[in-house]
Amino acid sequence: MALLEIKNLHARIAEDGTEILRGVDLTVNAGEVHAIMGPNGSGKSTLSYVLAGKEDYEVTEGEVLFNGENILEMGPDERAVAGMFLAFQYPIEIPGVATMTFLKAALNAQRKARGLGELPTPDFMKLVREKANKMNITPDMLKRPLNVGFSGGEKKRSEILQMELLEPTLCVLDETDSGLDIDALKVVSDGVNRLRSPERAMVVITHYQRLLDHIVPDIVHVLSAGRIVKTGGPELALELEKNGYADYIGEAA
Ligand code: ADP
Ligand code: MG
Ligand code: MG
Repeated sequence: MALLEIKNLHARIAEDGTEILRGVDLTVNAGEVHAIMGPNGSGKSTLSYVLAGKEDYEVTEGEVLFNGENILEMGPDERAVAGMFLAFQYPIEIPGVATMTFLKAALNAQRKARGLGELPTPDFMKLVREKANKMNITPDMLKRPLNVGFSGGEKKRSEILQMELLEPTLCVLDETDSGLDIDALKVVSDGVNRLRSPERAMVVITHYQRLLDHIVPDIVHVLSAGRIVKTGGPELALELEKNGYADYIGEAA
């Protein structure tokens, strides 16, 4: 059974009814890393929001199965607890909640849903500090409100720290490379690569090929006008880097 199976997914903006996803088909197996590339406005972020269960979008047709379960009937929190992790292009800021406190609540909610007890605070602190250190996140940053006043790079590193802590089975990363300088890109990619495993799959959404030099995908898809219009190996990303998206714009129109 595939880890994630998206079949003929259609979704529109709830507010005005504009259809953005127009029949997405995608099958992701455990252990695989897929890249989704595509021109600006093709629906890449919308796909990640629909997978996360964001209310601004309505699914009008199709199915999304995660471990064989229809996630479209699950709320965002249930999806997270089931093992999905979405790292957004614009990570949300939570004023008034220290990063450390947020991480603890997220981890304990997940443990509870899995029938595990809370991690004792000293064990939790040790675990977070260890993982934070690998992401170049200082103890001082952990005391600051989540993402508030964080630089672009700090936000992305804090997303990957959350991911490392929660150990999801499916990670969807939307434009994780945007706004990163080369050093931060390395830290973030190393974090993602540490999480690669036979039980886990990654969907890496990116406009640019650059990230895929660091996180080498098994399969590359091109999303254009709300549909996957081409699928290939890592060489497809290189071809796009060279030729741009001109060949694919309007393909699905
Ligand atoms: P990408 O991530 O590929 O650049 P998006 O999914 O962000 O594309 O956007 C696809 C299209 O849908 C764009 O034309 C964008 O302006 C529009 N769109 C997405 N979400 C909304 C929204 N909540 N309200 C209005 N327009 C939206
Ligand atoms: Mg965009
Ligand atoms: Mg986007």
